[in-house]
Amino acid sequence: MNDRSYNIGILGGGAAGLFTACMLRKLGFRGKAAILDRNKELGIKLTLTGHGRCNITNLKEVSDLKRGYHEAAGFITPALRSFGPKDTMEFLSDTLGLMLKEEDNNRIFPVSDSAVKVRDVLRNYIASFADIKTDTKILNVSHKDRFEVGTDKGTYTFDSIVLCCGGSSFAKTGSMGDSYRFAKELGHTIVPIRPALVPIKTDPLPLSGLSLKAAISLYVSGRKTNTITDDLLFADFGITGPGPMEIARDIPEDISDCHLEIDLVPDISEDSFDKELIGLIDIHPDTKIVNILSRYIPQRVAGVIADMTGLTDSYAQGLTKSSRRAIVSHMKHLVLGIRERPSLDKAYVTRGGVDLREISRKTFASKIVPGLYIAGEALDIDGISGGYNLQAAMSEAYLIARSIKEDIYE
Ligand SMILES: Cc1cc2nc3c(=O)[nH]c(=O)nc-3n(C[C@H](O)[C@H](O)[C@H](O)COP(=O)(O)OP(=O)(O)OC[C@H]3O[C@@H](n4cnc5c(N)ncnc54)[C@H](O)[C@@H]3O)c2cc1C
Repeated sequence: MNDRSYNIGILGGGAAGLFTACMLRKLGFRGKAAILDRNKELGIKLTLTGHGRCNITNLKEVSDLKRGYHEAAGFITPALRSFGPKDTMEFLSDTLGLMLKEEDNNRIFPVSDSAVKVRDVLRNYIASFADIKTDTKILNVSHKDRFEVGTDKGTYTFDSIVLCCGGSSFAKTGSMGDSYRFAKELGHTIVPIRPALVPIKTDPLPLSGLSLKAAISLYVSGRKTNTITDDLLFADFGITGPGPMEIARDIPEDISDCHLEIDLVPDISEDSFDKELIGLIDIHPDTKIVNILSRYIPQRVAGVIADMTGLTDSYAQGLTKSSRRAIVSHMKHLVLGIRERPSLDKAYVTRGGVDLREISRKTFASKIVPGLYIAGEALDIDGISGGYNLQAAMSEAYLIARSIKEDIYE
């Protein structure tokens, strides 16, 4: 074996690549491994995760967790069961010494609140185990008896490779869709890629910076296609936060006949809300409408609803039935037009990727090319926000490392 020949090549040193190298070391793999990345440092996208704090996993039970992976729920379940959130936490805390904490909605973060620290402990763990080849751009990948990987620094050869060059979003982090090109060249089918977990440019509302829990429904050609109830943050460009970012996944390419409807009071039915309103109007005739509404929603939002219904300075006394119905309608069905198709580059994850029918769910090995494994966003798997995507990469990495260690080298 020359100095560019290895048993294992990890193509892409992002989250999935780092996790795979860690799992290989943890499982005691004794072959020669290299990790190749185009950036000067590994895990650039990882350092941006969780607004720089890294939401590394989510401590829900697997039966619940799997639902966050949309169409890939069934496919990813064996991986989550083999190496789940508790295993991830145990590895990070017991093996790497990274202190962790749980926040709302079972989200797990490092106590340091530093995604850079997470990246650093992962990198330090593998530094003496794998040859780290940064600043090395992979140009092409081919397979005959072994894998030949052409880079701008020369050609590397490997017995097996783990393809994990990421998705096609946040291109400045190095993930520019190359996974899909290499997988396709190796014979795989690529499910068309689309943005997921991405903010939405909508008709503007003067509510920038304000957040609340809401139910957001997407309508396409007049038909409701999905509803997500979660936190919504108004921004100057439109809406963001967990709810909007999740529903953005379903916005079609052609947005000409799409709109969103926001239910600002999702915990109460339309009829009950109307009845409560009648009661409040009766009890508080001298109160301004905006103040009655602010019992349910933040004052600024109440002000906007009062403006939209022409009731800015109106009092409860004398409110007509049609005005009351208008309020109920705006509170339960606030219509927002979508201004632009969500951008792939601003997406936190990429929907689509290598067709899962061509991948073993037990090992994440390709069913088409022997010795090829695929992990991370390269695959047609995307999770909701809350640590789901990093956990998926970690679970996949474990199965890949176990397969490499046990099936190939033992
Ligand atoms: C802003 C932001 C916040 C996020 N927050 C969270 C969070 O808190 N929790 C969570 O679970 N998920 C989060 N995610 C999603 C998560 O970061 C990704 O799902 C995860 O990084 C995917 O890992 P990956 O290894 O597949 O891809 P990446 O992490 O993108 O890594 C791919 C690597 O391959 C390299 N590469 C690509 N092409 C080549 C080439 N031709 N030659 C050499 N190297 C190449 C890249 O340089 C990169 O380092 C967030 C994403 C973003 C953008």
